[in-house]
Amino acid sequence: MKTKRLLVLLSTILLAALLSVAVLQAKEKERSEIPEQYKWKVTDLYPSIEAFKQARDGVQADFPKLAVFKDRLGESAATLKAGLDLFYNMEMRVRRLEDYASRIVDSDARVSENKAYQSEIQTLRAKFKSESSFIQPEIVALGEDRLAAMFAAEPGLAVYRFPIAETMRRQKYILSPAEEKILGAVGAFADDGYYTFNVFSNADMPLPEITLADGSVVTLTYTNFDNIRRSPVAADRVKAFETFFGQHNKFKRTFAQLLFTQIKAYAFFAEMRGYESNLAAALDRDGVDPQIYYSLIAAARRHLPPFHRYLKLKARALGKDHLEYTDMYVPFTAAAEIPVTWEQVQQILVEALQPLGDDYVKVLQSAFRDRWIDVFPNVGKDTGAYSSGWAYEVHPFVLMNWTDTYSDALTMAHELGHAMHSYNSNKTQPFPTSDYSTFVAEVASTLNENLLNDYMLKQVKTDEERFYLLGNFLDNTIKGTLFRQTQFAEFELMVHQRVAKGEALTDEVLDKMYLDLARAYYGHDLGLVEVPDYLAVEWAIIPHFYYNFYVFQYSTSVAAASAISEKIIAGEPGALEAYYANLLRAGGSDNPVVLLAKAGADMTNPAAYDALTARANRYMDEIEKILDKKEGK
Ligand SMILES: [Zn+2]
Repeated sequence: MKTKRLLVLLSTILLAALLSVAVLQAKEKERSEIPEQYKWKVTDLYPSIEAFKQARDGVQADFPKLAVFKDRLGESAATLKAGLDLFYNMEMRVRRLEDYASRIVDSDARVSENKAYQSEIQTLRAKFKSESSFIQPEIVALGEDRLAAMFAAEPGLAVYRFPIAETMRRQKYILSPAEEKILGAVGAFADDGYYTFNVFSNADMPLPEITLADGSVVTLTYTNFDNIRRSPVAADRVKAFETFFGQHNKFKRTFAQLLFTQIKAYAFFAEMRGYESNLAAALDRDGVDPQIYYSLIAAARRHLPPFHRYLKLKARALGKDHLEYTDMYVPFTAAAEIPVTWEQVQQILVEALQPLGDDYVKVLQSAFRDRWIDVFPNVGKDTGAYSSGWAYEVHPFVLMNWTDTYSDALTMAHELGHAMHSYNSNKTQPFPTSDYSTFVAEVASTLNENLLNDYMLKQVKTDEERFYLLGNFLDNTIKGTLFRQTQFAEFELMVHQRVAKGEALTDEVLDKMYLDLARAYYGHDLGLVEVPDYLAVEWAIIPHFYYNFYVFQYSTSVAAASAISEKIIAGEPGALEAYYANLLRAGGSDNPVVLLAKAGADMTNPAAYDALTARANRYMDEIEKILDKKEGK
């Protein structure tokens, strides 16, 4: 579930400013004041709390039945099948319980009974994990030959073929039961670097105050910093940057030690299991070859020219000869957000996503009509947006905090992309292969954003609106995702490699690595963006460096989504069918890199990034024309 929640982080961060501003403007409603039609229908999971409790007790009652299979899975193909059938059936029911508990807590976190249900289900999950821990080692102990014979003898085992193949692939990294027990115990404090970072930066680190040009005094929380760095007032931005980074600079020895602690923990597990590197260990969770990671970094470096073109064009749009780093979060255009109401977005998305076919649109309409979505903010509701397709037998749920902006429409397209991926995979795949890997998780979501952008560009009438749409894509997808996340990925790799060589991570080392990298990406030496010395400490602010090679998937996903969406928009024969068969409906039925390649984006091919930067260049051509017109050329 941790990774499922992480999926929403990036978009949440990107949109945090917009949401918080908008949310603060209107007094937030109580959930009871919001009409039913705008609230997700959790009764589709369980008609009542009583039914939820019965389902929970039902899982409890099955633990003794599961225990019967202990030390017996190898008895016969029929026994193996019966044991796995029960295990996966229980897993499916536990997920539905988890989904329900999360949905009711996220609706209003102030309701303490709901919190209590959630913690009960967390305990149930932990119990299920320990009670089923015999399964993997027993399968590994069977060996390839015995398993092959069992698959031949029992056709009903076919649905477990890929999950078992994955277990066998990883078996060389599984240690003896005694060693696994020790590693399991170490797990209890293995993430303390990250947890301590979290507590320190979110709770204990003193927050400085600044006085803005209008005389108001603001405490620099991350959210406020994020808002001010988008402000049109340059002096406010500079003050916020200097103060916020200056404050982190004061504590950077602690931040360096926390990051070092966390990365040493990852290195410990990778080494104990016999992986050649932390990167190989981390990517092995999805069977992704580290070559994909190197290929991404090489692609970003190779495609720096279009990024640098963006930086020059943005300087021109802002009327400057070069950018300061403190200009980086100012929107490309001062044009106001395009307003979109909740009623409008439903029609817009139905039309914008039409290239994905009638079936897609039909399900989309049902998502709106049948209350898959929790639309508006209310007191106590979770912030941001996400989609959960965790309950296999039920439709996905989408959490939204709708505030009538085009950014919300993009978020809606994005989250519905996740939801449609889950819906199609859950409908098509048997449960054991329904869950898609994080490596492909952001493809369907980003692809929908591309389709929405293209549709809107055809609809809008004024240059101002076009400029807004084009600039928004360049700021978010090109700068914020492709280049910024790859810059993070490159930094992360350097940091891990240093620890692997037995070298310490000090604040001076981290500062230097970070600043050199930022200056290379932002063309500091080319005179494109003046990257100040104090930016060196930004590594201390980014939680993602604790996530063990997670962020690179944002970049690979936006590139893959562009490659596939270009083919679908162009009506290339077979493109839509390939996307359905190998992505939307494929779940976790094969290696994600293989699936994505069949769906239309071969990430082992360096050209996989070309469609995205070609789109960026097209958008920049258009912006140049608009600017020429404005400047009377
Ligand atoms: Zn997402």
